[in-house]
Amino acid sequence: MIDYIAAGAETKFFDEVCRHFEKAAQFTNFSPGLLRQIRQCNSVYRFSFPVKGENDVEVIDAWRVEHSHHQSPTKGGIRYSDMVNEDEVMALAALMTYKCAIVNVPFGGAKGGIKINPGNYTPQQLEKITRRYTVELVKKNFIGPSIDVPAPDYGSGEREMSWIADTYATMNPGQLDAMACVTGKPLALQGIAGRREATGRGVAIAVRECVSIREDMQKIGLMPGITGKTVIVQGLGNVGYYSAKFLAEFGAVIVGLCEQEGAIYNRNGLDVEAVLRHRKETGSILGYPGSKEDFKDSAEGLEQPCDILVPAALENQLTINNVFNIQAKIIAEGANGPTTPDAEAMFYERGGIIIPDIYANAGGVTVSYFEWLKNLSHVTFGRMSRRFEENSSLNLVNTVEGITGVSLTPYQRAAIIKGASELELVNSALEDTMVDAFHDIRRIYLQNESIDTLRTAAFVKAINQIGVSYLNMGIFP
Ligand code: GLU
Repeated sequence: MIDYIAAGAETKFFDEVCRHFEKAAQFTNFSPGLLRQIRQCNSVYRFSFPVKGENDVEVIDAWRVEHSHHQSPTKGGIRYSDMVNEDEVMALAALMTYKCAIVNVPFGGAKGGIKINPGNYTPQQLEKITRRYTVELVKKNFIGPSIDVPAPDYGSGEREMSWIADTYATMNPGQLDAMACVTGKPLALQGIAGRREATGRGVAIAVRECVSIREDMQKIGLMPGITGKTVIVQGLGNVGYYSAKFLAEFGAVIVGLCEQEGAIYNRNGLDVEAVLRHRKETGSILGYPGSKEDFKDSAEGLEQPCDILVPAALENQLTINNVFNIQAKIIAEGANGPTTPDAEAMFYERGGIIIPDIYANAGGVTVSYFEWLKNLSHVTFGRMSRRFEENSSLNLVNTVEGITGVSLTPYQRAAIIKGASELELVNSALEDTMVDAFHDIRRIYLQNESIDTLRTAAFVKAINQIGVSYLNMGIFP
Protein backbone atom coordinates (compact mmCIF):
# COMPACT_ATOMS: atom_id res chain seq x y z
CA MET A 1 0.00 0.00 0.00
CA ILE A 2 1.56 3.28 -1.10
CA ASP A 3 0.18 5.80 1.37
CA TYR A 4 0.84 8.97 -0.63
CA ILE A 5 -1.58 8.05 -3.40
CA ALA A 6 -5.11 9.31 -2.76
CA ALA A 7 -7.77 6.64 -3.42
CA GLY A 8 -8.58 6.38 -7.11
CA ALA A 9 -6.13 9.05 -8.16
CA GLU A 10 -3.91 8.72 -11.23
CA THR A 11 -0.53 9.56 -9.80
CA LYS A 12 2.13 8.61 -12.30
CA PHE A 13 4.16 11.83 -12.30
CA PHE A 14 3.73 12.52 -8.58
CA ASP A 15 4.64 8.89 -7.97
CA GLU A 16 7.86 9.39 -9.95
CA VAL A 17 8.78 12.43 -7.86
CA CYS A 18 8.10 10.32 -4.75
CA ARG A 19 10.40 7.60 -6.11
CA HIS A 20 13.22 10.13 -6.43
CA PHE A 21 12.40 11.29 -2.90
CA GLU A 22 12.42 7.76 -1.41
CA LYS A 23 15.73 6.98 -3.05
CA ALA A 24 17.32 10.04 -1.46
CA ALA A 25 15.52 9.77 1.90
CA GLN A 26 17.57 6.67 2.82
CA PHE A 27 20.65 8.91 2.96
CA THR A 28 19.05 11.19 5.57
CA ASN A 29 18.39 10.60 9.27
CA PHE A 30 14.77 11.71 9.63
CA SER A 31 11.98 9.59 11.09
CA PRO A 32 9.47 7.92 8.73
CA GLY A 33 6.76 10.28 9.99
CA LEU A 34 8.74 13.38 9.26
CA LEU A 35 9.69 12.07 5.81
CA ARG A 36 6.02 11.40 5.08
CA GLN A 37 5.17 14.96 6.11
CA ILE A 38 7.83 16.37 3.77
CA ARG A 39 6.76 14.17 0.83
CA GLN A 40 2.99 14.60 0.97
CA CYS A 41 1.05 17.46 -0.68
CA ASN A 42 -0.28 19.58 2.21
CA SER A 43 -3.25 21.15 0.37
CA VAL A 44 -4.86 20.25 -2.94
CA TYR A 45 -7.55 22.65 -4.12
CA ARG A 46 -9.50 21.51 -7.17
CA PHE A 47 -12.20 23.78 -8.47
CA SER A 48 -14.34 24.54 -11.50
CA PHE A 49 -15.76 27.84 -12.58
CA PRO A 50 -18.01 29.00 -15.40
CA VAL A 51 -16.96 31.40 -18.14
CA LYS A 52 -19.55 32.79 -20.51
CA GLY A 53 -18.87 31.80 -24.12
CA GLU A 54 -20.68 32.98 -27.24
CA ASN A 55 -23.56 30.48 -27.08
CA ASP A 56 -23.19 28.74 -23.78
CA VAL A 57 -21.29 28.67 -20.52
CA GLU A 58 -17.96 26.86 -20.48
CA VAL A 59 -16.90 25.14 -17.26
CA ILE A 60 -13.15 25.41 -16.64
CA ASP A 61 -11.31 22.92 -14.43
CA ALA A 62 -8.48 24.33 -12.35
CA TRP A 63 -6.12 23.50 -9.47
CA ARG A 64 -3.81 25.05 -6.96
CA VAL A 65 -1.65 22.68 -4.94
CA GLU A 66 0.43 23.80 -1.98
CA HIS A 67 2.88 21.00 -1.45
CA SER A 68 4.73 22.14 1.64
CA HIS A 69 3.94 24.67 4.34
CA HIS A 70 7.30 24.35 6.09
CA GLN A 71 7.95 27.88 4.79
CA SER A 72 5.53 30.69 3.96
CA PRO A 73 4.57 31.76 1.42
CA THR A 74 4.37 28.81 -0.91
CA LYS A 75 5.54 29.51 -4.45
CA GLY A 76 5.17 28.19 -7.96
CA GLY A 77 3.84 28.88 -11.44
CA ILE A 78 0.44 28.43 -13.04
CA ARG A 79 0.30 26.13 -16.04
CA TYR A 80 -2.22 26.82 -18.81
CA SER A 81 -2.62 23.61 -20.77
CA ASP A 82 -5.38 21.23 -21.81
CA MET A 83 -3.13 18.39 -20.62
CA VAL A 84 -3.13 19.65 -17.00
CA ASN A 85 -4.42 17.19 -14.40
CA GLU A 86 -4.27 16.83 -10.63
CA ASP A 87 -1.37 14.39 -10.64
CA GLU A 88 0.73 16.73 -12.75
CA VAL A 89 0.03 19.78 -10.58
CA MET A 90 0.82 17.79 -7.43
CA ALA A 91 4.11 16.58 -8.90
CA LEU A 92 5.11 20.05 -10.09
CA ALA A 93 4.21 21.54 -6.68
CA ALA A 94 6.42 18.95 -4.98
CA LEU A 95 9.30 19.73 -7.35
CA MET A 96 8.92 23.42 -6.41
CA THR A 97 9.43 22.59 -2.72
CA TYR A 98 12.69 20.75 -3.41
CA LYS A 99 13.81 23.38 -5.94
CA CYS A 100 13.37 26.25 -3.47
CA ALA A 101 15.30 24.35 -0.79
CA ILE A 102 18.18 23.61 -3.18
CA VAL A 103 18.74 27.27 -4.07
CA ASN A 104 18.04 28.50 -0.52
CA VAL A 105 14.91 30.41 -1.39
CA PRO A 106 12.65 30.61 1.70
CA PHE A 107 9.42 29.33 0.16
CA GLY A 108 7.39 26.14 0.28
CA GLY A 109 6.44 24.65 -3.10
CA ALA A 110 3.15 25.16 -4.94
CA LYS A 111 1.75 24.92 -8.46
CA GLY A 112 -1.41 25.88 -10.27
CA GLY A 113 -3.11 24.59 -13.36
CA ILE A 114 -5.91 25.78 -15.64
CA LYS A 115 -7.11 23.11 -18.02
CA ILE A 116 -7.37 25.06 -21.26
CA ASN A 117 -5.41 25.37 -24.47
CA PRO A 118 -4.63 29.10 -24.39
CA GLY A 119 -4.23 29.05 -28.18
CA ASN A 120 -7.99 28.49 -28.51
CA TYR A 121 -8.95 31.67 -26.64
CA THR A 122 -8.84 35.39 -27.40
CA PRO A 123 -6.85 37.65 -25.06
CA GLN A 124 -10.18 38.94 -23.70
CA GLN A 125 -11.33 35.41 -22.86
CA LEU A 126 -7.95 34.58 -21.30
CA GLU A 127 -8.21 37.69 -19.16
CA LYS A 128 -11.68 36.67 -17.98
CA ILE A 129 -10.46 33.15 -17.13
CA THR A 130 -7.34 34.40 -15.34
CA ARG A 131 -9.22 36.98 -13.29
CA ARG A 132 -11.88 34.44 -12.31
CA TYR A 133 -9.18 31.90 -11.39
CA THR A 134 -7.60 34.55 -9.14
CA VAL A 135 -10.94 35.36 -7.49
CA GLU A 136 -11.37 31.65 -6.70
CA LEU A 137 -7.91 31.61 -5.08
CA VAL A 138 -8.68 34.74 -3.04
CA LYS A 139 -11.98 33.24 -1.86
CA LYS A 140 -10.16 30.22 -0.41
CA ASN A 141 -7.10 32.09 0.84
CA PHE A 142 -4.84 30.36 -1.70
CA ILE A 143 -3.04 33.53 -2.79
CA GLY A 144 -1.30 36.41 -1.01
CA PRO A 145 2.19 37.85 -0.43
CA SER A 146 2.59 35.78 2.74
CA ILE A 147 0.36 32.86 1.73
CA ASP A 148 0.96 31.57 -1.79
CA VAL A 149 2.62 33.48 -4.63
CA PRO A 150 2.02 32.28 -8.21
CA ALA A 151 4.30 32.91 -11.20
CA PRO A 152 4.40 32.05 -14.92
CA ASP A 153 4.74 28.49 -16.14
CA TYR A 154 4.05 26.63 -19.40
CA GLY A 155 1.37 28.58 -21.29
CA SER A 156 1.43 31.73 -19.13
CA GLY A 157 3.62 34.83 -18.92
CA GLU A 158 3.87 38.45 -17.85
CA ARG A 159 0.46 39.39 -19.23
CA GLU A 160 -1.35 36.75 -17.13
CA MET A 161 0.65 37.75 -14.05
CA SER A 162 -0.42 41.39 -14.43
CA TRP A 163 -4.10 40.33 -14.55
CA ILE A 164 -3.57 38.29 -11.39
CA ALA A 165 -1.82 41.20 -9.60
CA ASP A 166 -4.55 43.62 -10.59
CA THR A 167 -7.38 41.30 -9.52
CA TYR A 168 -5.72 40.58 -6.18
CA ALA A 169 -5.00 44.27 -5.52
CA THR A 170 -8.59 45.20 -6.43
CA MET A 171 -9.94 42.64 -3.96
CA ASN A 172 -7.54 43.79 -1.22
CA PRO A 173 -7.80 47.57 -1.29
CA GLY A 174 -5.13 49.38 0.68
CA GLN A 175 -2.94 46.29 1.13
CA LEU A 176 0.53 47.81 1.02
CA ASP A 177 2.28 44.65 -0.21
CA ALA A 178 -0.41 43.55 -2.66
CA MET A 179 1.98 43.49 -5.64
CA ALA A 180 4.04 40.78 -3.91
CA CYS A 181 1.08 38.39 -4.42
CA VAL A 182 2.53 37.20 -7.75
CA THR A 183 5.92 37.29 -9.52
CA GLY A 184 6.95 37.32 -13.15
CA LYS A 185 5.05 40.58 -13.61
CA PRO A 186 5.97 43.06 -16.36
CA LEU A 187 8.68 45.54 -15.38
CA ALA A 188 6.17 48.38 -15.59
CA LEU A 189 3.99 46.65 -12.99
CA GLN A 190 6.67 46.19 -10.35
CA GLY A 191 8.32 43.20 -11.98
CA ILE A 192 12.09 42.86 -11.84
CA ALA A 193 14.76 43.21 -14.51
CA GLY A 194 16.09 39.80 -15.56
CA ARG A 195 13.10 37.66 -14.48
CA ARG A 196 11.99 36.90 -18.04
CA GLU A 197 15.30 35.30 -19.01
CA ALA A 198 16.17 33.96 -15.51
CA THR A 199 15.27 30.28 -15.93
CA GLY A 200 17.20 29.95 -19.21
CA ARG A 201 20.14 31.94 -17.86
CA GLY A 202 20.18 29.63 -14.83
CA VAL A 203 20.19 26.53 -17.08
CA ALA A 204 23.14 27.92 -19.05
CA ILE A 205 25.09 28.74 -15.87
CA ALA A 206 24.38 25.24 -14.51
CA VAL A 207 25.72 23.65 -17.70
CA ARG A 208 28.79 25.90 -17.80
CA GLU A 209 29.61 25.05 -14.18
CA CYS A 210 29.12 21.33 -14.74
CA VAL A 211 31.35 21.14 -17.83
CA SER A 212 34.07 23.24 -16.17
CA ILE A 213 35.12 20.37 -13.87
CA ARG A 214 37.95 18.48 -15.51
CA GLU A 215 37.72 15.18 -13.62
CA ASP A 216 33.95 14.90 -14.11
CA MET A 217 34.29 15.57 -17.84
CA GLN A 218 37.14 13.05 -18.16
CA LYS A 219 34.84 10.35 -16.74
CA ILE A 220 32.31 10.89 -19.52
CA GLY A 221 34.86 11.42 -22.27
CA LEU A 222 34.46 15.18 -22.77
CA MET A 223 37.02 17.98 -22.64
CA PRO A 224 36.40 20.53 -19.87
CA GLY A 225 34.97 23.93 -20.79
CA ILE A 226 31.84 25.20 -22.49
CA THR A 227 33.55 26.55 -25.62
CA GLY A 228 32.63 24.48 -28.66
CA LYS A 229 30.32 22.07 -26.82
CA THR A 230 27.49 21.02 -29.12
CA VAL A 231 23.95 21.39 -27.79
CA ILE A 232 20.45 20.29 -28.81
CA VAL A 233 17.56 22.18 -27.22
CA GLN A 234 14.00 20.84 -27.11
CA GLY A 235 11.40 23.61 -26.82
CA LEU A 236 11.67 27.18 -28.01
CA GLY A 237 9.48 28.68 -25.31
CA ASN A 238 10.81 31.00 -22.64
CA VAL A 239 13.11 28.41 -21.01
CA GLY A 240 14.41 26.76 -24.18
CA TYR A 241 14.97 30.00 -26.06
CA TYR A 242 16.95 31.70 -23.28
CA SER A 243 18.89 28.51 -22.47
CA ALA A 244 19.99 28.34 -26.11
CA LYS A 245 20.74 32.06 -26.26
CA PHE A 246 22.97 32.11 -23.16
CA LEU A 247 24.67 28.80 -23.92
CA ALA A 248 25.61 30.23 -27.34
CA GLU A 249 26.80 33.44 -25.65
CA PHE A 250 28.99 31.34 -23.32
CA GLY A 251 30.63 29.70 -26.36
CA ALA A 252 28.58 26.54 -26.96
CA VAL A 253 27.28 25.67 -30.44
CA ILE A 254 23.53 25.08 -30.81
CA VAL A 255 23.38 22.26 -33.36
CA GLY A 256 19.78 21.13 -32.96
CA LEU A 257 16.38 22.57 -32.10
CA CYS A 258 13.19 20.57 -31.57
CA GLU A 259 9.64 21.90 -31.49
CA GLN A 260 6.16 20.41 -31.78
CA GLU A 261 6.21 20.55 -35.59
CA GLY A 262 9.58 18.82 -35.97
CA ALA A 263 13.31 19.27 -35.48
CA ILE A 264 16.23 20.86 -37.33
CA TYR A 265 19.93 20.05 -37.15
CA ASN A 266 23.21 21.46 -38.41
CA ARG A 267 26.52 20.17 -37.05
CA ASN A 268 28.08 23.60 -37.73
CA GLY A 269 25.53 25.47 -35.65
CA LEU A 270 22.13 27.17 -35.93
CA ASP A 271 21.40 30.86 -35.41
CA VAL A 272 18.62 30.70 -32.80
CA GLU A 273 17.34 34.24 -33.46
CA ALA A 274 17.13 33.54 -37.20
CA VAL A 275 15.30 30.25 -36.53
CA LEU A 276 12.77 32.11 -34.40
CA ARG A 277 12.26 34.70 -37.13
CA HIS A 278 11.74 31.92 -39.67
CA ARG A 279 9.20 30.26 -37.37
CA LYS A 280 7.30 33.51 -36.93
CA GLU A 281 7.13 34.02 -40.69
CA THR A 282 6.29 30.45 -41.73
CA GLY A 283 4.71 28.95 -38.60
CA SER A 284 7.37 26.22 -38.39
CA ILE A 285 11.08 25.72 -37.67
CA LEU A 286 11.13 23.21 -40.55
CA GLY A 287 12.47 24.61 -43.79
CA TYR A 288 14.85 26.99 -42.02
CA PRO A 289 17.51 27.64 -44.69
CA GLY A 290 20.42 27.18 -42.24
CA SER A 291 19.34 23.64 -41.32
CA LYS A 292 21.17 20.66 -42.84
CA GLU A 293 18.67 18.02 -41.72
CA ASP A 294 14.95 18.43 -41.00
CA PHE A 295 12.96 15.83 -39.05
CA LYS A 296 9.17 15.74 -39.21
CA ASP A 297 9.21 13.59 -36.07
CA SER A 298 10.40 15.98 -33.36
CA ALA A 299 11.57 13.08 -31.15
CA GLU A 300 14.18 12.14 -33.76
CA GLY A 301 15.80 15.52 -33.22
CA LEU A 302 16.68 14.53 -29.65
CA GLU A 303 18.67 11.55 -30.90
CA GLN A 304 21.14 13.43 -33.12
CA PRO A 305 24.86 13.77 -32.25
CA CYS A 306 25.67 16.37 -29.58
CA ASP A 307 27.45 16.76 -26.23
CA ILE A 308 24.57 18.27 -24.28
CA LEU A 309 20.80 17.82 -24.57
CA VAL A 310 18.53 20.42 -22.96
CA PRO A 311 14.94 19.18 -22.74
CA ALA A 312 13.06 22.42 -22.06
CA ALA A 313 9.49 21.54 -22.97
CA LEU A 314 7.42 19.15 -20.87
CA GLU A 315 7.73 16.13 -18.58
CA ASN A 316 8.25 12.54 -19.72
CA GLN A 317 10.33 13.19 -22.84
CA LEU A 318 13.19 10.80 -22.07
CA THR A 319 11.89 7.35 -21.24
CA ILE A 320 13.16 3.75 -21.42
CA ASN A 321 11.92 3.78 -25.02
CA ASN A 322 14.28 6.44 -26.34
CA VAL A 323 17.05 7.01 -23.80
CA PHE A 324 19.31 4.43 -25.46
CA ASN A 325 19.24 6.46 -28.66
CA ILE A 326 20.32 9.69 -26.98
CA GLN A 327 23.86 10.52 -28.08
CA ALA A 328 24.41 13.42 -25.66
CA LYS A 329 26.71 12.85 -22.68
CA ILE A 330 24.96 15.45 -20.54
CA ILE A 331 21.24 16.07 -20.11
CA ALA A 332 20.43 19.46 -18.57
CA GLU A 333 16.79 19.49 -17.51
CA GLY A 334 15.30 22.88 -18.36
CA ALA A 335 11.79 21.42 -18.09
CA ASN A 336 10.31 19.86 -14.96
CA GLY A 337 10.41 16.06 -14.96
CA PRO A 338 11.59 15.41 -18.54
CA THR A 339 13.42 12.17 -17.62
CA THR A 340 11.69 9.19 -16.03
CA PRO A 341 13.52 7.47 -13.12
CA ASP A 342 14.18 4.29 -15.16
CA ALA A 343 15.53 6.27 -18.12
CA GLU A 344 17.80 8.17 -15.75
CA ALA A 345 19.28 4.95 -14.34
CA MET A 346 20.00 3.72 -17.89
CA PHE A 347 21.58 7.01 -18.90
CA TYR A 348 23.97 6.94 -15.92
CA GLU A 349 24.83 3.28 -16.60
CA ARG A 350 25.91 4.33 -20.06
CA GLY A 351 28.23 6.91 -18.53
CA GLY A 352 26.25 10.13 -18.78
CA ILE A 353 25.42 12.95 -16.36
CA ILE A 354 21.99 14.47 -15.75
CA ILE A 355 21.82 17.98 -14.32
CA PRO A 356 18.47 17.58 -12.55
CA ASP A 357 15.46 19.88 -13.00
CA ILE A 358 15.16 20.75 -9.31
CA TYR A 359 18.52 22.44 -9.62
CA ALA A 360 18.92 23.23 -13.34
CA ASN A 361 15.71 25.23 -13.78
CA ALA A 362 15.70 26.89 -10.34
CA GLY A 363 16.89 30.22 -11.78
CA GLY A 364 13.29 31.29 -12.39
CA VAL A 365 12.13 30.96 -8.81
CA THR A 366 15.43 32.45 -7.59
CA VAL A 367 14.76 35.69 -9.44
CA SER A 368 11.08 35.47 -8.45
CA TYR A 369 12.38 35.61 -4.87
CA PHE A 370 14.26 38.82 -5.70
CA GLU A 371 11.11 40.26 -7.27
CA TRP A 372 9.09 39.39 -4.14
CA LEU A 373 11.74 41.07 -1.95
CA LYS A 374 11.67 44.13 -4.20
CA ASN A 375 7.87 44.32 -3.91
CA LEU A 376 7.98 43.98 -0.12
CA SER A 377 10.70 46.60 0.27
CA HIS A 378 9.08 48.96 -2.27
CA VAL A 379 12.44 50.01 -3.64
CA THR A 380 14.45 49.02 -6.72
CA PHE A 381 17.65 47.11 -6.01
CA GLY A 382 20.60 49.49 -6.06
CA ARG A 383 18.53 52.66 -5.70
CA MET A 384 19.88 53.54 -2.25
CA SER A 385 23.51 52.75 -2.98
CA ARG A 386 24.31 53.19 -6.67
CA ARG A 387 25.25 56.88 -6.77
CA PHE A 388 27.10 56.61 -3.45
CA GLU A 389 29.19 53.69 -4.76
CA GLU A 390 29.93 55.55 -7.99
CA ASN A 391 31.11 58.61 -6.04
CA SER A 392 33.28 56.51 -3.71
CA SER A 393 34.91 54.74 -6.68
CA LEU A 394 35.42 58.08 -8.42
CA ASN A 395 37.17 59.47 -5.33
CA LEU A 396 39.36 56.38 -5.14
CA VAL A 397 40.33 56.56 -8.84
CA ASN A 398 41.09 60.29 -8.58
CA THR A 399 43.20 59.75 -5.46
CA VAL A 400 45.19 56.86 -6.99
CA GLU A 401 45.74 58.82 -10.22
CA GLY A 402 46.88 61.82 -8.19
CA ILE A 403 49.37 59.78 -6.11
CA THR A 404 50.76 57.64 -8.95
CA GLY A 405 50.56 60.18 -11.76
CA VAL A 406 49.15 57.41 -13.99
CA SER A 407 45.95 58.28 -15.87
CA LEU A 408 43.38 55.62 -16.70
CA THR A 409 41.76 55.55 -20.14
CA PRO A 410 38.16 56.84 -20.25
CA TYR A 411 37.03 53.25 -20.77
CA GLN A 412 38.92 52.00 -17.69
CA ARG A 413 37.58 54.88 -15.60
CA ALA A 414 34.01 54.22 -16.67
CA ALA A 415 34.31 50.47 -15.98
CA ILE A 416 35.68 51.02 -12.46
CA ILE A 417 33.34 53.85 -11.47
CA LYS A 418 30.08 52.38 -12.74
CA GLY A 419 27.59 51.43 -10.00
CA ALA A 420 25.48 48.30 -10.48
CA SER A 421 22.05 48.46 -12.15
CA GLU A 422 19.16 46.30 -10.97
CA LEU A 423 19.75 43.92 -13.88
CA GLU A 424 23.44 43.54 -13.03
CA LEU A 425 22.66 42.87 -9.38
CA VAL A 426 19.98 40.32 -10.27
CA ASN A 427 22.24 38.53 -12.76
CA SER A 428 25.20 38.37 -10.41
CA ALA A 429 23.04 37.13 -7.52
CA LEU A 430 21.53 34.50 -9.82
CA GLU A 431 24.98 33.36 -10.93
CA ASP A 432 26.17 33.21 -7.32
CA THR A 433 23.14 31.11 -6.36
CA MET A 434 23.47 28.66 -9.27
CA VAL A 435 27.22 28.19 -8.84
CA ASP A 436 27.02 27.66 -5.07
CA ALA A 437 24.11 25.22 -5.36
CA PHE A 438 25.95 23.17 -7.99
CA HIS A 439 28.94 22.69 -5.74
CA ASP A 440 26.73 21.85 -2.73
CA ILE A 441 25.05 19.11 -4.74
CA ARG A 442 28.32 17.81 -6.20
CA ARG A 443 29.88 17.66 -2.73
CA ILE A 444 27.02 15.46 -1.49
CA TYR A 445 27.33 13.30 -4.62
CA LEU A 446 31.05 12.75 -4.03
CA GLN A 447 30.74 12.22 -0.26
CA ASN A 448 28.79 8.96 -0.49
CA GLU A 449 29.48 6.31 -3.12
CA SER A 450 25.94 4.96 -2.86
CA ILE A 451 24.54 8.30 -4.04
CA ASP A 452 24.68 7.52 -7.73
CA THR A 453 23.14 10.56 -9.42
CA LEU A 454 23.26 14.33 -9.04
CA ARG A 455 19.46 14.21 -8.67
CA THR A 456 19.66 12.00 -5.61
CA ALA A 457 22.31 14.33 -4.18
CA ALA A 458 20.05 17.32 -4.89
CA PHE A 459 17.12 15.59 -3.16
CA VAL A 460 19.33 14.80 -0.16
CA LYS A 461 20.24 18.48 0.13
CA ALA A 462 16.58 19.50 -0.14
CA ILE A 463 15.26 16.89 2.30
CA ASN A 464 17.92 17.80 4.87
CA GLN A 465 17.06 21.46 4.64
CA ILE A 466 13.29 20.96 4.87
CA GLY A 467 13.63 18.33 7.64
CA VAL A 468 15.70 20.71 9.76
CA SER A 469 13.07 23.46 9.41
CA TYR A 470 10.40 21.03 10.61
CA LEU A 471 12.57 19.96 13.55
CA ASN A 472 13.12 23.59 14.44
CA MET A 473 9.35 24.07 14.58
CA GLY A 474 9.40 21.51 17.42
CA ILE A 475 6.56 19.41 15.99
CA PHE A 476 8.63 16.28 15.53
CA PRO A 477 10.49 14.37 18.23
N1 GLU B 1 7.18 28.06 -13.06
C1 GLU B 1 8.55 28.26 -12.72
C2 GLU B 1 9.15 26.98 -12.18
O1 GLU B 1 8.68 25.91 -12.44
C3 GLU B 1 8.78 29.49 -11.85
C4 GLU B 1 8.19 29.46 -10.48
C5 GLU B 1 8.30 30.79 -9.72
O2 GLU B 1 8.98 31.69 -10.17
O3 GLU B 1 7.66 30.86 -8.67
O4 GLU B 1 10.17 26.98 -11.55
